[in-house]
Amino acid sequence: SVYNQIEEVESDVQAYVTLTKEDALQRAKEVDQKLANGEEVSPLAGIPIAIKDNMSTAGVKTTCSSEILHNYKPPFDATVVEKLFAEDAVMVGKANMDEFAMGSSTENSGIQVTKNPCDLERVPGGSSGGSAAAVAAGEATIALGSDTGGSIRQPASFCGVVGLKPTYGLVSRYGLVAFASSLDQIGPITKDVTDCALTLNYIAGHDQYDSTSVEREIPDYTKSLTEDIAGLKIGVPKEYFGEGIDEEVKKSVWEAIEQLEELGAEYEEVSLPHTEYALSAYYLIAPAEASSNLARYDGVRYGLRSESNGLIDMFKETREEGFGDEVKRRIMLGTYALSSGYYDAYYKKAQKVRTLVREDFDQAFKEYDVLISPTSPTTAFEVGDKSDDPLEMYLSDICTIPVNLAGLPALSMPCGTDEQGLPIGLHIIGQAFDEETILQVAYAFE
Ligand code: GLN
Repeated sequence: SVYNQIEEVESDVQAYVTLTKEDALQRAKEVDQKLANGEEVSPLAGIPIAIKDNMSTAGVKTTCSSEILHNYKPPFDATVVEKLFAEDAVMVGKANMDEFAMGSSTENSGIQVTKNPCDLERVPGGSSGGSAAAVAAGEATIALGSDTGGSIRQPASFCGVVGLKPTYGLVSRYGLVAFASSLDQIGPITKDVTDCALTLNYIAGHDQYDSTSVEREIPDYTKSLTEDIAGLKIGVPKEYFGEGIDEEVKKSVWEAIEQLEELGAEYEEVSLPHTEYALSAYYLIAPAEASSNLARYDGVRYGLRSESNGLIDMFKETREEGFGDEVKRRIMLGTYALSSGYYDAYYKKAQKVRTLVREDFDQAFKEYDVLISPTSPTTAFEVGDKSDDPLEMYLSDICTIPVNLAGLPALSMPCGTDEQGLPIGLHIIGQAFDEETILQVAYAFE
């Protein structure tokens, strides 16, 4: 079983914060039973799946890799988890992450630092670093991650696997611990495009418990896996190939684009002029929402409660002890941006920029079926390289963040390696709810 592989590599990789072996073996046995009885089973039946530790799992610790939730066991399953269980998928364990999904390297985890299976000196990316590393190391066949500004795609890119951030509203967020609610989406991290399409089939769809989930017909995404991309129009946004993007990364992505041209697609350079403001807007909007969402961790309702005299001191000390530095930084930034007298100058401005970023994409999609860029400016960096420099870390998501601001779907898949053999990610961005075209392009390229 997958636990043999875990036995083998987990002490190096450290992808999981909790393993649920007993439950998993029980579930696997039930699948065997069904098969033995000649029952028909789902394509996901018995498939080992890693779940990022910010998705609620009934009776199984859900810590967000934070001290403040170190002992929290939710009484319910997130909708995505419930849906996978309904297909008889087997949860292997809960995957490590940057605390509350804030980060790009998984070094902000309050529990452990996950290593990149391609090179153990390097980070797996983040915040879904545990999920991506688990799949890359063969410790799970499929993983779920969450993506607020790149947290599925960037680790997928760093670990050489496939990661899809679905359109905002396609997949229910019920049971996902909220970071920035207007940006968060759950999506699959898999070894290949076929598994990605298959997983999406089962997690997409309206949910009465998530009012932002959209009511629409869910196609069979595996039907998009044709080789045919003749006449498809690709836009190549020039702002994504500028300063700060590694030459090797650019070269590899351009080669991929040329390969797609050989397969019958056409490409053209396009401009998304507001790209340069996206990162700043994101680092106002995401912390603003986070500061509000994280107000609930007060030591009263769940998780850590510090020993102290009096209620106010208990609030203060619980939050002081329970949150890590990056989380505190975001809460302070967000609280400041939302405070009266500053709201118009920061938060409201950022929302206006967000609209402009979205309009750039709207304009581009009048002419192109997909847009293609690098997923990340660099390949996986060394552990410790950026952990003291938040701004450097924030720049890791410069290519992925605009997509979240616009609510669009985008996929990262391997397109080559750099001189050191580290994977490079190809970023395919689609129109809202057009995961099908993204998957079609990805499958043709694969
Ligand atoms: N790295 C970005 C951040 O720290 C994105 C995180 C994410 O997508 N969850 O906010």
